Amino acid sequence: MGAIKTRLFTPGPVEIPPRILRALSQVPPHHRTDQFRDVMRRVSGELAWLHGTAGEVFLLAASGTGAMEAAVVNLMAPGERALVVDGGKFGQRWGAILAAFGIAREVLAVEWGRAVDPAEVEHRLASDPSLTTLFVTHSETSTGVLHDVRALAGITKRLGRRIVVDGVTSVGVHPLPQDEWGLDVVVCGSQKGLMLPPGIATVSLAPWAAAAIEGERLPRFYFDLRRARKSAPLGETAWTAPVSLVLALEESLAMIREEGLDAVHARHAKVAHAVRAGALASGYALFAQVPSHAVTALTPPAGVEAPAVVKRLRDVHGMVVAGGQDQLKGRILRVGHMGHYDRADAMAVVAALEECALALGGRGPGSPGFAGASAGAVGAARAAWDAA
Ligand SMILES: *Cc1c(COP(=O)(O)O)cnc(C)c1O
Repeated sequence: MGAIKTRLFTPGPVEIPPRILRALSQVPPHHRTDQFRDVMRRVSGELAWLHGTAGEVFLLAASGTGAMEAAVVNLMAPGERALVVDGGKFGQRWGAILAAFGIAREVLAVEWGRAVDPAEVEHRLASDPSLTTLFVTHSETSTGVLHDVRALAGITKRLGRRIVVDGVTSVGVHPLPQDEWGLDVVVCGSQKGLMLPPGIATVSLAPWAAAAIEGERLPRFYFDLRRARKSAPLGETAWTAPVSLVLALEESLAMIREEGLDAVHARHAKVAHAVRAGALASGYALFAQVPSHAVTALTPPAGVEAPAVVKRLRDVHGMVVAGGQDQLKGRILRVGHMGHYDRADAMAVVAALEECALALGGRGPGSPGFAGASAGAVGAARAAWDAA
């Protein structure tokens, strides 16, 4: 058998559309030229539009975790305390970064697969005024859960605290209007909803939070946003910019602008609904209580092992999905569909999931005791697409 055609359904890095690949192949200009400064200014403006903020969006050469670290070191002062929502691997990462910098924190542990209860956050913050800042993940990629950051922002605002949101797999997937919702800081990375290779991270600072990065904070150098703030009006970054990626980002933002932000969100909703319905109809179950449109976390049909599905999807269908991490290793599979994914992708992955369930001996449509839709997985996905 020859090489199989592969398709990425991973929760990052994701498929890169041809338009962006073309942008990446340009000869990069030098970063201290007017040509590149013009690009930087346009990209900064479009990033602010994407985030729905009249504030500043700082562009860093890093993966998403770099933006998380930048948020921590630029906002937190020694002696300050934080509340962390930990409902998965990325929530945990907030805690780990804070720990690395010696910031005392309360951890609100949320069972993996569940969404945080805003009332519990309110209770924790209200009963401990020393918790100045709430760190939370919007779309928790490790569990496929979407947390209600809008409700959380209402609470932090009311109590006079800050909220810092990891939007790495929700920006460009779900609505996350920063200023309207009252989000002080949103961090993002390039290799998820923005359809780029890894290497750009952004920190978006709301206008009312502008002063939050000034003054005595944690030790910071590479990620010192005061330097970024000085360079930005000049169309420059503090250090050498990831020039090729910035050119690609301009293209990615143009694609989102052309399709329309609402339409991009609606397309993600349709793909996600179709994938969920199709998987359910083949005997899979949703792992997330409140599922994100970025990634669908599934437990396999009875009698089927998740790693066997991951393997068969890859070997037989050429579809690369992710397994579970840490405590979910071997228990779930995660199908990513953020960025450049459409109806045909949704139908294809649903058909492949159904084929895996049948081939691996799971109960599928027509088998005894199966409660799924009689139309089969693709039929269920089609109905969900139309309804979403
Ligand atoms: C991918 C991801 C990140 C960043 O991870 P990097 O490997 O540093 O890019 C952060 N948060 C979430 C929710 C993610 O999915």
